[in-house]
Formats: sequence, structure tokens, C-alpha cells
Amino acid sequence: MSIPVVTNIELSSLPKLASGKVRDLYNVDDKTLLFVTTDRISAYDVIMANGVPLKGAVLTNISAHWFKVLQERIPDLKTHFITLDPPANLGDADKELVRGRSMQVRKLKVFPVEAIVRGYITGSAWNEYKKSGTVHGLAVPAGLQQCSPFPEPIYTPSTKAELGQHDENISPEQAAKIVGEKYAARIEALALQVYKAGAAYAAERGIIIADTKFEFGLDEETDEIVLIDEVLTPDSSRFWPADEYEVGRDQNSFDKQFLRNWLTKEGLKGKDGVEMPADIAQSTSERYLDAFKRLTGKTLQEALQG
Ligand code: ATP
Ligand code: MG
Repeated sequence: MSIPVVTNIELSSLPKLASGKVRDLYNVDDKTLLFVTTDRISAYDVIMANGVPLKGAVLTNISAHWFKVLQERIPDLKTHFITLDPPANLGDADKELVRGRSMQVRKLKVFPVEAIVRGYITGSAWNEYKKSGTVHGLAVPAGLQQCSPFPEPIYTPSTKAELGQHDENISPEQAAKIVGEKYAARIEALALQVYKAGAAYAAERGIIIADTKFEFGLDEETDEIVLIDEVLTPDSSRFWPADEYEVGRDQNSFDKQFLRNWLTKEGLKGKDGVEMPADIAQSTSERYLDAFKRLTGKTLQEALQG
């Protein structure tokens, strides 16, 4: 089965509700969304002009894999996943457009915080720690080196910025003000529980999940907190190959390293509308496919054939 590279999708049989940096959300019915992942890629917070082959299919199918694995490991976990099958009211031409890259999910009220969990100190957390010895204002042990594991994974929420804006690191107390005391503790506990289960699973497959971002929604009928969005993908997480890991330096990330290195070399970091050369898009695609294979034990083609 061949899946074209697509950065923009316009379905004619369902209304579009929203469009993010990578995904488009379509309305299936009152309770259901079609969650469509394009091949768009962002680096340094801007979206490239062209797409990465098979990225949408990889992200969709990695998330679906995780929903299944996490559900087995955390039986009372609620997720938004319904099915990878297209909805009955999707037209035939539209079915072709979303093949391999869509899932039906429950439409929920999104909590406006990014539930970030960090197992290792890197990125903005490392920068803050070097300056102040804290991470998102939280006290953490002294003497950590770059990319050291924390003694225990920590919950470091951020705001969920509108498209084009930057997310802002906040303390768990500030997050509690945003989502309400009632839900804050439950979101934090769930985020930590899902991270730990996922990181243990990935570690058995040669991948360190250094940190990740979850999103949660509220089922207003049952007052339950539900794991939504993409889950533990190379876009929402830092995946490090375990066999190359070394404390005290930056790690090679699984997916975007080629692209970031190229952008830096060409002086195009943060510039809008950049066209990636074919070899960069292709190497990036291979990295996503590699992450898929390591995590699921199957090639993408095998997974798509079901
Ligand atoms: P980034 O992930 O790079 O921050 P983004 O978050 O803007 O980008 P996408 O990942 O492209 O957006 O799109 C997904 C959008 O769908 C997010 O805004 C997310 O909050 C929302 N979403 C995810 N799951 C659900 C759900 N079950 N119900 C309603 N909205 C959802
Ligand atoms: Mg997103």
C-alpha cells in the first residue's frame, strides 16, 4: 500500500473543527472526532514547507500501539482511542486521503495544560537547572549532569499556547490554578503513572524516553480524566537510542536530529516556510520508521496490513 506525502488535507465529507501544527480534527458526530495526522514537521517551533514521508502514519500507529499497551498495563486508564477504522460517514475519496493516518477518538474537553513528565534532565529543564538549581521552580538534587536521570520522574507542566505562541513552563501549583484543584492532582498522578509504564516498556526495546508531553481531557458525563492526543511518539517525547546514551553531553534525538543539524548548518533555524532537501526528509522518515519498528516490533507496512 502506498501512502502519499501530505501536508494539507481537505476532507469534503466531514466538517473540519480545528487544525494544529501537525493534525487536523474533523467532526464525525456529537461525541466523536476524526483525528488526522499529516506529514507536517516542525523544528525550532516552525513548520517546514514540505512533509516527511510516512510520518503521519507512523505517529498515528505508534499512538494506537501505546493506547493498547497502556490499557493492558494500567487497566483503569481511560483513553480517547476508539478505532483506527474510518467512520461510516466518511466518503470514499476522503477514505483514501486519510488512509493509515487517522483514528477516531472521543471528543472531549481539553485541559489547557501540557502534562510534561521528565525522567532525565535536558532541554529547557537543563538550562533552568544550570542557572538556578531548580526545574520549573521545583527543588531537585544538586550535582546532576546534563542528561542525568532524575532520582524519580518529575511532573513539570506548561501552559498550552495558541498556535504560533510558545508554551510557558509553570509550577504544579500554577497548573492547579488553571485546571482546578479538583483535577490537578489526578492529572499529575496519571501523567507520572503513564510515563513510568511507557518508559519501562520502551527501555526493554532499546529506547530511553527522556521526557514527554501528555494531554488530558475531561469526560463531562462521568467526570473522568481521559488520556487524549498523541501518546509517547517521537514528536511528543524525546526518544534517545539507549545504546548511544552517555551522561554529561547532549544526546542524539531519534527523529529530528538530521533536520535540526541541517537547519543550523544552513542558518535557517526558526525561519518560516523552509523547504527540506529530499535527503533530509528521507533520513528523517527513516528515523521515524526505525522508532516505530523498535517500539512495536513490526514494520509500518506490517502494522498497516493489520
Ligand atoms: P503541538 O503538538 O506541536 O503542540 P498542536 O498541539 O498545536 O501542536 P496538533 O498536535 O497538531 O496540535 O493537534 C492536536 C490538537 O487536538 C491539540 O490541540 C489537542 O489538544 C487536540 N486534541 C487531542 N485529543 C483531543 C480530543 N480527544 N478531543 C478534543 N481535542 C483533542
Ligand atoms: Mg500536539
